Amino acid sequence: MYLGRYRMSCANPLDPAILADYWLAELPPGEESAVEEHIFTCQDCTRQLESVIDLAEGIRTLARHGNLGMVVTREFVDRLARQGLRAREYAPQAGGAVDCTVTAHDDLLIGRLAADLTGIDRVDVALCDPSGAERQRLQDIPFRAGLSEVMLNYPIGLARQSGRDVLVMKLLAVTSQGERVLGEYTFNHTPS
Ligand SMILES: [Zn+2]
Repeated sequence: MYLGRYRMSCANPLDPAILADYWLAELPPGEESAVEEHIFTCQDCTRQLESVIDLAEGIRTLARHGNLGMVVTREFVDRLARQGLRAREYAPQAGGAVDCTVTAHDDLLIGRLAADLTGIDRVDVALCDPSGAERQRLQDIPFRAGLSEVMLNYPIGLARQSGRDVLVMKLLAVTSQGERVLGEYTFNHTPS
């Protein structure tokens, strides 16, 4: 029998965005187990998930090569760690400083910025000189209500090329009235 081109036969295919969230471990637990169950029994959605993972692998490669700065979740970093990537994490206190470096063995460089995000609508991250001059700003970063920290994947390629440097990260709550600093975190970088 000639089956022709592959076609979707799943009556209720999962949305690729849901599959991406599933792979990134960003679904609420109840939804995650429902998706898991569906994928387990559905070949169509398994294939769809594989193509989502291929895309995500591309992102992972970018992160690995150090060209991608982004907000990540604990679950995402843990998942990459389970896949053998080594994440170096720094978690200075709000208002505090940490000495940091990066070695040839590290795959990811993670900054963890502790802050109370309760009731906040929009958060920006400003990367500043010690003088306060902004080098870069990540606007309107994604964050989940109830989390007490923001995790950033700092471009590891940039860190590797950097000499001694002091980077001040600021978490800013932004409203139409202006912005206020939620926390300041100083990274004193020394090459390894
Ligand atoms: Zn399906």
